[in-house]
Amino acid sequence: MKPAIHPEYTEVTVHCACGATWKTRSTSKDLHLDICSNCHPFFTGRQKLIDTEGRVDRFTKKFGAQTVEKRKVAAKAAKETKAKKATGARKTAAKKKAS
Ligand SMILES: [Zn+2]
Repeated sequence: MKPAIHPEYTEVTVHCACGATWKTRSTSKDLHLDICSNCHPFFTGRQKLIDTEGRVDRFTKKFGAQTVEKRKVAAKAAKETKAKKATGARKTAAKKKAS
């Protein structure tokens, strides 16, 4: 390495938001991370929402909690009402033809 042109590359401690710490080498003095391999969903296999600005909370306040089952029920109800309307329309059309 050439002298006096490279930044200082020292051993630093990394701090994650989950509480994990470990040592590595870096040019910055202190590393604070939001997520690491100890707490990332890819490695843990658990679902974790990274909601930094409360966007999920705002969405659930506005539209209610969205779950797969709720959406399925809503889709089924919509389908049934659509089917009822369609059969009703067919019946009225048949009546018009008859008279
Ligand atoms: Zn972590």
